[in-house]
Amino acid sequence: MYILLMGPPGAGKGTQAANLVQKYGIPHISTGDMFRAAVKEGTELGKKAKACMDAGQLVPDEITIGIVKERLAKPDCAKGFILDGFPRTVEQADALDGILKALSIRLTRAVDISVPSDVLVERAVGRRICKKCGATYHIRFNPSKTEGVCDACGGETYQRADDSEATMKNRLSVYEAQTKPLISYYQEAGLYSKIDGSQEMSKVFADITACLEK
Ligand code: ADP
Ligand code: ADP
Ligand code: ZN
Repeated sequence: MYILLMGPPGAGKGTQAANLVQKYGIPHISTGDMFRAAVKEGTELGKKAKACMDAGQLVPDEITIGIVKERLAKPDCAKGFILDGFPRTVEQADALDGILKALSIRLTRAVDISVPSDVLVERAVGRRICKKCGATYHIRFNPSKTEGVCDACGGETYQRADDSEATMKNRLSVYEAQTKPLISYYQEAGLYSKIDGSQEMSKVFADITACLEK
């Protein structure tokens, strides 16, 4: 399965990607996670990405396309992958087409997790992530058993710097302007499926697997 997970910030892409990894045993490739790892390590890439991320803007296409191209060429992607948060611009989608053609890979589906924007702000602001294993929680919708402590590994949970209400406003307008055109892009390619992401997590997952296996 070669899956694209699309959707606005906070829609549930990372949450559902983790479920898909468990079910299908294919790698989860999140450009946001890759950038956060680079920021943490203080690499050149991290330095370039940090200012854009903090402002809720996109990292420039040439940088983003480069890291995805490198990642998709690794052998673990040959049998499938879940791309989460890429592409986010039409230029990235065109580049992905070229990368996949060169690898003789055809996308299985572009799954769009659709959620109204007022819900997205609450989801992002309440999001907490484990520092150690990356598990995602929500203070209201999916709290860890002990506040601040990961259920899976006992690690400490934190709030992303860009998960503030103010930065979310920028991220949502960037989504509307730059990422939303990808809906018609993948509709025209005959790959697009829209999922109601406002449902509870298990129902969202059931709908995603149903559309992948149909
Ligand atoms: P979310 O899951 O909330 O949508 P991500 O973790 O995917 O957020 O992305 C966080 C930030 O990383 C984005 O706001 C952007 O600055 C940067 N980023 C992630 N993916 C891309 C991409 N495909 N193109 C450009 N910037 C990206
Ligand atoms: P994305 O990767 O699209 O930015 P996440 O998967 O990180 O989104 O989810 C954003 C926040 O919303 C997280 O705190 C997560 O626990 C929560 N969440 C995800 N899916 C749902 C859902 N179906 N209902 C309620 N909360 C959800
Ligand atoms: Zn953990």
